Amino acid sequence: MERLGKNHGGYHGETIDIRAVLRDIETASKQHGWTSEVFGQQGEFHLFALHRCPPSTLNSQPSTRIYLSTGIHGDEPAGPLAGLSLLRENKWPANAELWFCPCLNPIGFVLNRRENPDGKDLNRDYRHLETAEVRAHITWLERQPQFDLYLCLHEDWESHGFYLYEQNPDGKSSVAESIVGAVQKVCPIDLSETIEDRPAKNGIIRPNLDPRTRPQWAEAFYLIMNKARLGYTLEAPSDFPLSTRVEALVAGANAALAR
Ligand SMILES: [Zn+2]
Repeated sequence: MERLGKNHGGYHGETIDIRAVLRDIETASKQHGWTSEVFGQQGEFHLFALHRCPPSTLNSQPSTRIYLSTGIHGDEPAGPLAGLSLLRENKWPANAELWFCPCLNPIGFVLNRRENPDGKDLNRDYRHLETAEVRAHITWLERQPQFDLYLCLHEDWESHGFYLYEQNPDGKSSVAESIVGAVQKVCPIDLSETIEDRPAKNGIIRPNLDPRTRPQWAEAFYLIMNKARLGYTLEAPSDFPLSTRVEALVAGANAALAR
């Protein structure tokens, strides 16, 4: 598969109409029994979270609680599109209780910019909470139960292929290899030994730094410190066609969900 070769110094690929995508996400979620809750505001946009309980016939079984996040970086359109695709496919584990925050930075998508309208990277603000968006998101997260698994869907305009971060401090059974195995059928994997200044192997980064030692926190750090003990940040390579990146994130998410 050929790289597009157009992302130099930033993302210069396809953009999306975030209003239309968020409308489609709301429509698909309603069709499949999700409820929607507005928890914040960014300009004219509502920030909202979706939630779905397992079917009542399965209420006697212990449920798996899964949290999905997309759309925190406005120059990474594959995430919200992958979320929409997963909603439409509706192939979640039968006993899963699901939470999905599809877009924390809608104006970022309007501007095709990573940061929020004030130029802040929301995904570095989960320690100091300087932005209204992240404060609202955390207020909402604090009202939710602990999750068994989180998935954050992103893109990286510099990467040579797909890669992921695994946060697994308790050494739980890992799905990192199965995610990579599923993605490599649809998208190249970044096999670099160093990605984003961290050691990587076969497209997998297992950061061993304690988040408490980090000056800034991504959403994933907040989650691993407060809400979940296993999670994955999936990074699709922006220098490949948007449809390939969406397919990569959907395949990776489905592999993680099938664990
Ligand atoms: Zn990102």
